[in-house]
Amino acid sequence: MTELTIIPSSGTALPAEPFRARHLIDGAWTDSADGAVSERHSPAHGALVSVAAKGGAAETVAAIAAARRVFDAGDWPRASGKERSAILLKTADLIERDIERIALIETLESGKPITQAHAEISGAADLWRYAAALARTMHGESHNSLGPDMLGLVLKEPIGVAGIICPWNFPFLIVSQKLPFALAAGCTAVVKPSELTPSSAVMLGELLQEAGLPNGVLNIVLGYGDPVGAMLSTHPSVDMVSFTGSTAVGKRIVAAASGTLKKVSLELGGKNPQVIFPDADLDQAADAITFGVYFNAGECCNSGSRIIVHEDVAGALVEKVVALSRKVPFGDPLDPRTQVGAIISPEHMRKIDGYVKAAAEAGAGVALGGAAISVEGLSGQFYGPTVVTGVSPEMAIATEEVFGPVLSVLTFRDADEAIALANSASYGLSAGVWSRDGSTCLDFARRVRAGTVWTNTWMDGFAELPFGGMKQSGQGRELGRYGLEEFLEAKTVQMRIGDTRTAWVAA
Ligand code: NAD
Repeated sequence: MTELTIIPSSGTALPAEPFRARHLIDGAWTDSADGAVSERHSPAHGALVSVAAKGGAAETVAAIAAARRVFDAGDWPRASGKERSAILLKTADLIERDIERIALIETLESGKPITQAHAEISGAADLWRYAAALARTMHGESHNSLGPDMLGLVLKEPIGVAGIICPWNFPFLIVSQKLPFALAAGCTAVVKPSELTPSSAVMLGELLQEAGLPNGVLNIVLGYGDPVGAMLSTHPSVDMVSFTGSTAVGKRIVAAASGTLKKVSLELGGKNPQVIFPDADLDQAADAITFGVYFNAGECCNSGSRIIVHEDVAGALVEKVVALSRKVPFGDPLDPRTQVGAIISPEHMRKIDGYVKAAAEAGAGVALGGAAISVEGLSGQFYGPTVVTGVSPEMAIATEEVFGPVLSVLTFRDADEAIALANSASYGLSAGVWSRDGSTCLDFARRVRAGTVWTNTWMDGFAELPFGGMKQSGQGRELGRYGLEEFLEAKTVQMRIGDTRTAWVAA
């Protein structure tokens, strides 16, 4: 039996000094008033890689006040699309100039492979360019059919101060799914990156300053959900919270935001099904399933972690997926050959393992993995590729987000059962179908409750196409034109022209 493919330590020297991350408030880089910091150790190497200011109420209030003042009295919300676009385009160029530096800190803080960090930063630069294009095409409506004396206009205006709260799994990509769209709309912003991966957002702030973004348009407060994220969710001077993270925290943000009725947009978790019909190309499906479950060590909202396969081909498919899983290079994220790196934290490793153990105890089979793996020369935490078969719909591993390199395999007998299983989770982020029959794929795409459906592919993404979730996977959409609309308000202007006399009260 072939063993796993493990990439040992490459011996790459880590930076001599940890990156120092500070808040950006009204154009100035500052430490916390009380001097508090949080340290981040690399999940793969165990070494200290960044020391970040840990924000409290003072920093959060100051950042919100700056964003408010600049929105209400500054030039940015009234700047032309051309001016905003120029800064976003310049930022994209600077991101590409600094790609090595940003990718390295991303890998060191998150544990993801360096090649994938590169791809993430490069994809993010594309989003800055796409948002720059939108900044110049933004427009409202005119209504010229309201009668001879009336003209109606619908103006699109920036919503105001946007609080942007991000997770750790794609730190640079996710802030780039939000911030350039908010800036294109003319909003000002307070960004809070995850406490586990603060540094790439700080580098982005430096680049935006270099690109000429006026002071106070972007503010960054580092620190934890409590108090920084919670204050962004409750503060009356914040007009909108754009959040990506867990469904549990998303619900807390909605509750916290209800006091001010601020707009909340949410990109939350997923338990994404892939349904494999018996006529599918099993080799292609197996390769995409392997990618879908191990990409970013499964720490991915779009993880294709739930396979629903026709019982006639289940055995053959699992055999192929297990064989491919053994070939996927797990190990040192700084080695360019590595495709799966380290798990974000020891606590998260225990959570992943807990799901697998609980499924095994409930009668599921573990066809591969189900345990931590050691990587020669590295002291961090790594979880092996894991395939769990015989999963039944009521098991936690079938309905909850494991967020690790763990595949759950369920089976079905007919299309109705497959759809019912696919729709049985409380999430509705993304879904996939594998069949050579276009009608089977289209029928699935129309019946499944998910914000994105892939047919005979998995996890493609484009700046032009909206992304977001149904059910408990979120509300609102990012990317595409929808991503800009999230940060805009519609204002109706009704103009009496021509005959301006009114006659409600007789003269
Ligand atoms: P998380 O919910 O624990 O944290 C996300 C952010 O919220 C962090 O910055 C955190 O500090 C902050 N936060 C924590 N408590 C808060 C509170 N009470 N108020 C305001 N902010 C608070 O999520 P995570 O562990 O960082 O990320 C993983 C989760 O993110 C997974 O569930 C994953 O599916 C989801 N995610 C979704 C998408 C998507 O586009 N749908 C993309 C990436 C990740």
